Amino acid sequence: MEKGRFTQRKKNCRFCTDKIKYVDYKDTSLLRNFVTERGKIVPRRISGNCASHQRDVGQAIKRARSIALLAFAEER
Ligand SMILES: [Zn+2]
Repeated sequence: MEKGRFTQRKKNCRFCTDKIKYVDYKDTSLLRNFVTERGKIVPRRISGNCASHQRDVGQAIKRARSIALLAFAEER
């Protein structure tokens, strides 16, 4: 069943669960789950992502942020 390189202790990484290999930076509704109200990326221990997906999420968020798809730090 599991053919990952590393056995995963926790299975609450939703990307692994959904077998998503690429985190779509345009999927703002998804990314929003990983951003705090203040526009910070939710840490892994809270998000429950595995290391590699957490990295993907972080990059996706940064990318989305750079093209202002997400309303980050809405404090004007
Ligand atoms: Zn994962």
